[in-house]
Amino acid sequence: MEPKNEKTPDYICDICRKKPATVQISGEGQYCLDCYNEKMLNAYGVENTFDYPKSMTVIEPNGAMHTFQIEHMVLGPLVSWDAIEQGGHYHFKESSNVEANGSATAQMFFRKIVDGVCTKSLEEVPHRIDNILFRNDKYIQLRDKGSINIVEDEADSERVLFEIDGERFRGEDLEKLFGGRQGFVIRYDVQDGVAPILKENEYLVPVYITKDSLIGEMNMVVNIYTDRKFLSYKNVLGFREAFDKVLDKLKVLADAGKRKEALAAGREMVRILTEIETDDDSFPISDMELISDIVDPFGIDEKLRNLIWDYIEGL
Ligand SMILES: [Zn+2]
Repeated sequence: MEPKNEKTPDYICDICRKKPATVQISGEGQYCLDCYNEKMLNAYGVENTFDYPKSMTVIEPNGAMHTFQIEHMVLGPLVSWDAIEQGGHYHFKESSNVEANGSATAQMFFRKIVDGVCTKSLEEVPHRIDNILFRNDKYIQLRDKGSINIVEDEADSERVLFEIDGERFRGEDLEKLFGGRQGFVIRYDVQDGVAPILKENEYLVPVYITKDSLIGEMNMVVNIYTDRKFLSYKNVLGFREAFDKVLDKLKVLADAGKRKEALAAGREMVRILTEIETDDDSFPISDMELISDIVDPFGIDEKLRNLIWDYIEGL
């Protein structure tokens, strides 16, 4: 089975005998996309719930309009979705399970298209900067966060193009889109184009992490699992589960480049641990080490080392 590129009217769908055939299955026949999908759904014994508008227009706040042609294709147990902009370069993809409701999936896909069009990765720079890209009478650069699609250069199979906000750029343009960012670092995360931004039941929640918020959470964990600052060996497991979550946030703070604040929080967390009495053999030295590994991975902070050593000597 292979999609046909040329939609010549010579190839008429074997089933409806009306629309041009765009899919050919060797030894079986040729079909238009609608008849092909219907045939595949029948083969899977799945009801056709793929009822959705095949065209949608997104209007941006600045009035720019983007019209998309939307189609889906049943490929075995998967359904592949494409939204191709008419007269533009936006192209969105999605995949779903053949048994998932087709019109509900289309609604989610529409949402993704609107988000994709309205979330911009490029920004205009109000003044001229050397090395920056000048296009359509504007100086433009990439925002701090965004996405870039890597697409085939139809004119030259040896090259790729970079698609940003529905516009295409060459490698040397990309250089200029980053021209104003000398001394900065790009952390990259290449993903499959059909990967959803968030998985099912995942939500983006703004998280504020500071030294004070971490100490507050740490004190709460201590209050829950200790009896007036005595931690029974029976409660160590529960304590550590809750403590792990505080450690995760401490790591986020340290990884976000807030090393000083993370170190100050780490010292305070170790100090809180020194005040807890226990009848457990492993607590709290290994926990102190976990903190130290995050905030002082090279073991060079004397204050933190001394806190831990004084505690061990005092045992
Ligand atoms: Zn047909």
